[in-house]
Amino acid sequence: MSEFSLIEETVRETAKRFTERYWIEKDKAAQFPKEFLDEAARLGLTSLLVPAEYNGVNIKVGDYVGLVRLVSSLHGVAAGDLLMAYNTFGAHPLFTLGSNEQKRKFAERLITGEANPCVAVTEPAAGSDTLSVSTVAERSGDGYTIRGRKIWITMSHITRQMILVARTSSPQSGRRSEGLTLFLIDPHEHSGIRTSRIDDIALRALGSCEVFFEDVHVPREAVLGEEGKGWRALTGIFNLERLSTASISLGTAELLLSKAVEHAKTRVVFGRPIGANQAVQFPLAEGKVWLEAAWRLVRDGAEKMDRGEECAFEANGGALLAAKSSNMVADAAMQVFGGMAFAQDTGIELHWRNLRLFRVGPVPEELALSYVAHNILKLPRSF
Ligand SMILES: Cc1cc2nc3c(=O)[nH]c(=O)nc-3n(C[C@H](O)[C@H](O)[C@H](O)COP(=O)(O)OP(=O)(O)OC[C@H]3O[C@@H](n4cnc5c(N)ncnc54)[C@H](O)[C@@H]3O)c2cc1C
Repeated sequence: MSEFSLIEETVRETAKRFTERYWIEKDKAAQFPKEFLDEAARLGLTSLLVPAEYNGVNIKVGDYVGLVRLVSSLHGVAAGDLLMAYNTFGAHPLFTLGSNEQKRKFAERLITGEANPCVAVTEPAAGSDTLSVSTVAERSGDGYTIRGRKIWITMSHITRQMILVARTSSPQSGRRSEGLTLFLIDPHEHSGIRTSRIDDIALRALGSCEVFFEDVHVPREAVLGEEGKGWRALTGIFNLERLSTASISLGTAELLLSKAVEHAKTRVVFGRPIGANQAVQFPLAEGKVWLEAAWRLVRDGAEKMDRGEECAFEANGGALLAAKSSNMVADAAMQVFGGMAFAQDTGIELHWRNLRLFRVGPVPEELALSYVAHNILKLPRSF
């Protein structure tokens, strides 16, 4: 058995300990799945993209997205998102952009499961127009003073590894992509950072917050990558994020599909299984085809990334297709389960609710389409 199949085998074992009930209870109580995170760290799932010289598992992106999909197919969105936080937001930017000092400081926490990484991009006024962010980092003394406000930052209340996007200079005319800078900080080390949790309907077990930065002083060494060149760095993070969330949604939709198929085979109404009706079969069959097609695009994108090739089409197209197909499956599952879908304890609505997020974030469907329209079809820009 290869080393990779061994990882897959042990990941499958986690479903015995962390059952559907575990995830339903965590979601209801809006409680962090610390026990699952500890197990994930023990299995190396929090350091999949950490290089071997830093004691990480060090697998290719193509294999990584496969594991994210597998974990999500066993546990759902919150578990997949935890893996994404550690590997896509934690390891990937640290080892592609970080200084040696930053790598030494942050690598160990990824392995032990103490980092809970997050990326703070979205702002109340800027929304998905990232280049309009107004959080500023002004040079002061030996570093910067940061002021501003972010919203919807998942795990920001418990993070020890935050990537913060701020403006270090005003956009010059026609060059809005210049002047953005990424900062890598441990919020516990700085005063002036406050979080306020949002009572939301997706990723409740992990938690998303508003984050306030009030005259936060950070040293010059906190810059991740190059000052003013944050947009370019961010697009690389966005590509992997989109491939990752697509893998989470496809895995979770597989989980829902298998539950719906099982229910369609066993629920008897009018004297026969409801799954004997074509009206019940076809949405499930169509969902299966869409999920497989979306997965091929996502896997292609991940393999391109491994080869160092441009993969923004696959990242945006994959995120779009995965969001659409997983929501199609989630809706079909709600229908197949009938009234029982509305009981929280059947675990259908939890996945349906969580999957709805991916039609809006990390990239709204319309903006994924705009990427293709502007950059692939070369249509006139709409913004
Ligand atoms: C549970 C949750 C967790 C999140 N976690 C994070 C996180 O960890 N870090 C982070 O930085 N952000 C996070 N986000 C934010 C998420 O990435 C944004 O919600 C998403 O990018 C959309 O931005 P917005 O909500 O401001 O929507 P807006 O930008 O206000 O857009 C609203 C809608 O308008 C439409 N629209 C906007 N512009 C156009 C256009 N040009 N053409 C056509 N239609 C358009 C789209 O339908 C879009 O959905 C999270 C959000 C949620 C809900």
